Amino acid sequence: MPAAQAFLDIAGAPEPKVRVKVLLPLPAGNGYDYAVPDGMIVGPGDFVVVPLGPRKVIGVAWGDEADGSVPDAKLKEVVGVLDAPPLSADVRDFVDWVAAYCVSPRGVVLRLVMRSGSALEKARGKSAFVPAESPPLELKLTEKRRAVLKAARPGRPMTAAQLAKRAGVTEAVVRGLAQAGALRVVELDPDPAFDPPDPDLPGRALSDDQAAAVRALSQKVRASGFSATLLDGVTGSGKTEVYLEAVAEALRADEGAQVLVLLPEIALTLPFLERIEARFGAPAAAWHSGMTSAARRRVWKRVADGGARLVVGARSALFLPYTNLKLIVVDEEHEAAYKQHDGVLYHARDMAVARGARQGFPVVLASATPSLETLANVEEGRYGRVELPSRFGPAELPDTQVVDMRASPPDKQRWLSPPIVERTTEVLRRGEQVMLYLNRRGYAPVVLCRKCGERMCAPDSDTWLVEHRYTNRLVCHHTGFSMPKPEACPHCGAHDSLSPCGPGVERVAEEAQERWPDARVEIFSSDTVQHAGAARSLLERMTAGEIDILVATQAAAKGHNFPGLTLVAAVDADLGLAGGDLRAAERTYQVLSQVSGRAGRAEKPGSVMLQSYQPEHPVIRALAGQDRDGFLAAELDGRRSLGFPPYGRLAALVLSGENEAKLMETAQTLVQAVPHADGVEVWGPAPAPLYRLRGTYRVRFLVKTARRVSVQNVLGAWLSRVKLPSSVRCTVDVDPYNF
Ligand code: ADP
Repeated sequence: MPAAQAFLDIAGAPEPKVRVKVLLPLPAGNGYDYAVPDGMIVGPGDFVVVPLGPRKVIGVAWGDEADGSVPDAKLKEVVGVLDAPPLSADVRDFVDWVAAYCVSPRGVVLRLVMRSGSALEKARGKSAFVPAESPPLELKLTEKRRAVLKAARPGRPMTAAQLAKRAGVTEAVVRGLAQAGALRVVELDPDPAFDPPDPDLPGRALSDDQAAAVRALSQKVRASGFSATLLDGVTGSGKTEVYLEAVAEALRADEGAQVLVLLPEIALTLPFLERIEARFGAPAAAWHSGMTSAARRRVWKRVADGGARLVVGARSALFLPYTNLKLIVVDEEHEAAYKQHDGVLYHARDMAVARGARQGFPVVLASATPSLETLANVEEGRYGRVELPSRFGPAELPDTQVVDMRASPPDKQRWLSPPIVERTTEVLRRGEQVMLYLNRRGYAPVVLCRKCGERMCAPDSDTWLVEHRYTNRLVCHHTGFSMPKPEACPHCGAHDSLSPCGPGVERVAEEAQERWPDARVEIFSSDTVQHAGAARSLLERMTAGEIDILVATQAAAKGHNFPGLTLVAAVDADLGLAGGDLRAAERTYQVLSQVSGRAGRAEKPGSVMLQSYQPEHPVIRALAGQDRDGFLAAELDGRRSLGFPPYGRLAALVLSGENEAKLMETAQTLVQAVPHADGVEVWGPAPAPLYRLRGTYRVRFLVKTARRVSVQNVLGAWLSRVKLPSSVRCTVDVDPYNF
């Protein structure tokens, strides 16, 4: 700069401030400009502390250009930069993409990444002790002190508690020795790295089919670059064994590679983690909602600095700050549990594929009953397919029999039909196990007053209260509201008139225990296995043959191998077929095949019985005839002819509010602004499922577009034409489930 000009700058306007755009993990806004003070360096992806009103919040320096809309004079300054690895460009790009796809503010998606915010706090490690290099010359040595010095190891710091335990003394003795200078205090790393998995440990001997599948997947992994492959194998075919070899291949290919295995349920993770540890000689980093915050912080940090190479987690593990992600496996890709139901309404399987596509790595989707979305992608050549057509070893797929309930009705107030009772008796006599499947928690789904006809509902809601006998309460399964079962009908006051209608698992278990008094009957549902430990102990007892009849909801449908289980009976196979949900048939098919897949997984052949009042329904017929592909092809045809996903795009727009009149008025305003364009259809407003919940009303529009039309753009244009009152909340759900 010429001297004269520099002089002018000093004399005239001040130098413009250096700006940075900071995205905050908050619903509002798209990022704000902040000034970078002199001497501070802020790079893209850095975690920074900035003022927001009276608060200080942690955000991320985003790659975007600062927008310059706030004048220099009003600009707030970045307070500091955290000493943490910056959020990689890949993760930032992923956040931007997910936000655009889900029509969600970027800050809310960033919150998914930063949710374990404590990860950014400095954690203090515990104190531990090692022998001092130069112990004091004059040390008073007692018997106890000697024991401690003998137990202490130079290379292995131990906490006071550990050391005291080994030496059989109290912690005070250990601390006394440290004070005297005979032990040195070191601080343990609060977030130790994970032992690296060893891909070269020998895996199991594979069958020919499995070996061929491993070769096909490994080739995709070695090819690097994006690919999506469906690993399509019947239950018990060894999909897990196969994809673990693909994981090994990815870990082998690159020393710093990170791999993510997504699972739909936490109940599955414990046995699964043991399988991983057996294969790779080191535990994987597990990630799910039930973790302590210290465990979360450790995984988050180690993923961010590459010290966790193999992550096994529920859907939110997708948003960990990977630095070098090279493969994602989505197990049970068809599972509805991959869809997030609040906040950002993303589908983890789809986001996993999107992430692979954007960042150029392979994605493997494993299932015995693939989703129609994935099948359509296979048919259209976008995804590859690798098949495992038969069960591993001698196990055969079970034969399936439909019990026509019209011809073989159960006794009054009973739920098991004569053919099922008969078969169960036989199976129990042989010392084998039975699973009675009913996807309904509690004792009875409805409680009705026999005097006045009142159905017990949750307060200010349209949901029925479910009777739970074990706790003797009535529970709303949507809001968690519960109350003791009243003595008298709250409506008409009649005594002893409230009767349970229909069965839940508790009622079926009651019947089973009455019919087979010597059998050991247990219930597996989210009420009986509220934490992973309980699930595990129940599963272990079932595996060990200590349970004769397991009455189970969907929580037990998947992933487990019970060698003695030879009969699976679905108490109500039709449950789930009713209702207007687009995926009702597909999902019922999937879950019933999964449940059926529990039978006969070892040497003993298994069988499946389905109680149905509509045996001619395509889902029931396909299950009976084991015609998966025929059923799925027919479903796909149906979707294609109606232009529904995967052949069209769908989004739901839900308005909710406590003031019903205001809500309706707002819905009408939206009707006025409905976009009319080729390939766009809008339906609604209609009452959303659960129209009234805890005093909040909900109405819904559905937007269907042709595949070539961006449903996000349509929604964006529509919403930009309307100003919503603050009392009405608007939620956009792209690719909605449950409607
Ligand atoms: P899937 O995921 O397809 O249902 P799994 O991977 O869980 O199947 O395998 C089913 C059962 O067969 C498991 O008990 C598994 O340990 C066993 N299995 C599968 N492949 C092998 C193999 N190659 N060697 C030994 N056992 C195997």
